[in-house]
Amino acid sequence: MYSGDIASVLITEQDIQDKTAELAKLVAADYPEGGEEDLILVGVLKGAVMFMTDLARALPVPSQLEFMAVSSYGSATTSSGVVRILKDLDRDITGRHVLIVEDIVDSGLTLSWLMRNLATRNPASLAVCSLLRKPDAVKVDVPVAYVGFDIPNEFVVGYGLDYGERYRDLPYIATLAPHVYEG
Ligand code: 5GP
Ligand code: MG
Ligand code: MG
Repeated sequence: MYSGDIASVLITEQDIQDKTAELAKLVAADYPEGGEEDLILVGVLKGAVMFMTDLARALPVPSQLEFMAVSSYGSATTSSGVVRILKDLDRDITGRHVLIVEDIVDSGLTLSWLMRNLATRNPASLAVCSLLRKPDAVKVDVPVAYVGFDIPNEFVVGYGLDYGERYRDLPYIATLAPHVYEG
């Protein structure tokens, strides 16, 4: 599949599954079962879908799945921090424990905007779990409580992450061969 397009596999399917199980334990320890209401996972479409569904299944505590779609103005590979909501949450999160699930925090601009937006809705708590984080993310003051992997400053695809809507379906995280960008 996609033969010739993949330059190298950065994180294998097994590494992702192992890390997801680890993160699930950390999350479950912070949101024990028996609270008044279930934890709400807010997945940011479309990139976080694979991670979110695997994380929810790995969590030993109940969680409910909600989705948001945002568009960050910018090119295919960089974001500007100017964000528009394409699909909002279907429900009120007032008084609920909310965990934003992200595929990757790069500049952190999208997440920082999203945190501020969701905070105005008065959740009981608000935290972030991201599978990947890039070095630039530390420059922006976005607290990411749970991080799977810190990765180098390279454009990656797979496991939800796309390039021109392709490669999301790969079960691993990879870099692309230069010819893909050259078209
Ligand atoms: P940020 O606002 O943190 O710069 O990044 C926001 C979004 O840009 C991410 O949720 C993701 O959709 C996209 N993005 C950032 N880095 C990468 C990358 O290496 N690969 C892909 N496919 N998307 C990325
Ligand atoms: Mg994302
Ligand atoms: Mg994308």
